[in-house]
Amino acid sequence: MRGHYPVETDHISLELNQVFDATIIIPAFFEGGRVTYNNIHYVTDGDYLIPAADTIFAKDSHFGFTNSNLINWVVEKNKGKVNHNDVVSITLSDIREGGILAVAEKLESVNQGATIVVNAVNQHDLNTFVMAALHAEVNGRNFLYRSAASFVASRAGLETKNLLSASQFSDKTTNNSNKNGGLIVVGSYVDKTTKQVKHALANTNIMGIEVNVSQIINISKQQANKTIKSSSLDLFISKLAITVENSITRGADVMLYTSREFVKGATLDDIALVSSVLTGIVKKLKSRPSFLVAKGGITSNDIASDSLQIKTARVVGQIELGIPVWKTNNDCKFAGLHYIVFPGNVGSEDTLTKVALKLGVTRKSDIESNKSNEQTNYMIEKLLQLRQAKQAIAAFNVYNLEGAQACVMAAEELKMPIILQVHPVALKFGGVALISMLFTLRKYASVPIFIHLDHSSDEKDIFMAIEKGFDSIMVDGSSMKYEDNLNWTKKITKIIQRENIIVEGELGLLAGEEDGLSIPEKAAKMTDPLQAKEFVKETNIDMLAVTIGNVHGPYRSQPQLDFKRLVSIRQNIPAHIPLVLHGASGLPHAMTQRCIAEGICKFNVNTDLRAAAMNSIKDNIKNNAKCDVLHLMEGSKTAMYKVAKEKILSFMAGK
Ligand SMILES: [Zn+2]
Repeated sequence: MRGHYPVETDHISLELNQVFDATIIIPAFFEGGRVTYNNIHYVTDGDYLIPAADTIFAKDSHFGFTNSNLINWVVEKNKGKVNHNDVVSITLSDIREGGILAVAEKLESVNQGATIVVNAVNQHDLNTFVMAALHAEVNGRNFLYRSAASFVASRAGLETKNLLSASQFSDKTTNNSNKNGGLIVVGSYVDKTTKQVKHALANTNIMGIEVNVSQIINISKQQANKTIKSSSLDLFISKLAITVENSITRGADVMLYTSREFVKGATLDDIALVSSVLTGIVKKLKSRPSFLVAKGGITSNDIASDSLQIKTARVVGQIELGIPVWKTNNDCKFAGLHYIVFPGNVGSEDTLTKVALKLGVTRKSDIESNKSNEQTNYMIEKLLQLRQAKQAIAAFNVYNLEGAQACVMAAEELKMPIILQVHPVALKFGGVALISMLFTLRKYASVPIFIHLDHSSDEKDIFMAIEKGFDSIMVDGSSMKYEDNLNWTKKITKIIQRENIIVEGELGLLAGEEDGLSIPEKAAKMTDPLQAKEFVKETNIDMLAVTIGNVHGPYRSQPQLDFKRLVSIRQNIPAHIPLVLHGASGLPHAMTQRCIAEGICKFNVNTDLRAAAMNSIKDNIKNNAKCDVLHLMEGSKTAMYKVAKEKILSFMAGK
């Protein structure tokens, strides 16, 4: 009942230059739980029938209505142009007691230009009505139908089919050569969709990318006022398109959704604008996703017609009740694509999750079930999600505002979570002011920012971090003898984990002065896979930092990592424990890729950031006579931002 009525029906008459004998309103939609009885249109909610005007859908600021009675609704929507007397009802008794001929007679007897509303509670009712309408059409009547899908099935004589099963469509589940991830685009902002989005994010390994609605509206306003460049919105769209493209080509399934908070005062134009951003992103994709789900009426329409340029498609069936699956033909952007049209208000809370799973998205519990620890931790979850997507998180050592801002800026731009970590030396200098600054940045960031204490062997620092609510702490006993390291780590880990803070432990001795050592000497300092197995089991740490030839500080010769050792460590450690590599500064891209492939999901970056800052400062002092403190700060921030971005990109580009 929501939508452009009577604008659409009026326009169709006008464009066709035709006066119809009657406009027939048939909103019954059985797959979606919509029935019409005694002229009241109902929405099924579990075991209850709710009059349509009492549902959230009637509260829509643009398409809202107050009448559940279809006759009154027609009068309401026509704003006085149609009277109650002009509306004729085809009742259930007309259909069930009168049958085809009685209904046909009623249809043929209406005054020209009348509006007819049709009651129906099942497909049989509609079948009878359709036979009657055909009868009237044969006798020369012409009708304009405004209906939901159930009428179309009757009118076209479509047989009821079983729901499609998982094996019938997704490129991934049918062994197709397309190894790309799938894409779900969510535009609908109704409450039901919000619940479905949350459920799918919580229960599947789909990667959520939020599109900030307020930001879009702001950019558009500023663009109109000419306070920013006219291409700003286009740039916003391009950046998101790149993120989506990179993710799906890595095999990650992506859900692109508009921010869920209600945007006060949003107009129809704003909604059209947001829709144009979503369609714009999909339009820019070069790689074909393994499936595409569009959620919301406007979104699915615009993506089909504008982004994908679909001219014709075959409807192959329903994936869940009320959710049709199209297979595109050759006359569009991605031929042979399964395009799923998911209305905003159909299904229950878990329906989007069910659809995603059928399309080949993995269930979150596949990883979670391996966990020995009952309590789930958001940061660990994120790390494991990244690992599944063949990505890793960047953990940046920060010392000041410029460094922290630079890293957050890069993370927001690339829509990736990051870790901001504080080394004891930085902590000694910056103290609680430094910590507070990191938490403030995190509060206003648009991506997850985790705060970590790096390399700590000082219990005072560790307790401070617990108190301040750090996300994770690296308990570093690597300078101790193995036995002492194990016992101390075990003790401290227990204390930290009580607060649901995660613990990174380290095994192996990582230093910057390995260059002069012989190979056996180097090997002696590396992580022993069997010892690692015991260490993780005994201490119960959540993440393990490994030493496989990586060094702190700059690499003085070509870095050489012992990948065989890494594979062996991975095999000896439970799957739910993320592996960490320190000393990612100066590692060539191919090497980080191989590390990710073998299970590293956190890289520590320190030296490269500092070097970039120092070079910028030296350069500014040397070449800029008017250089002041702000110039130095700005320059170093930009330099560090470039490094951070490059590093995140390198860790994003898995596979
Ligand atoms: Zn380190």
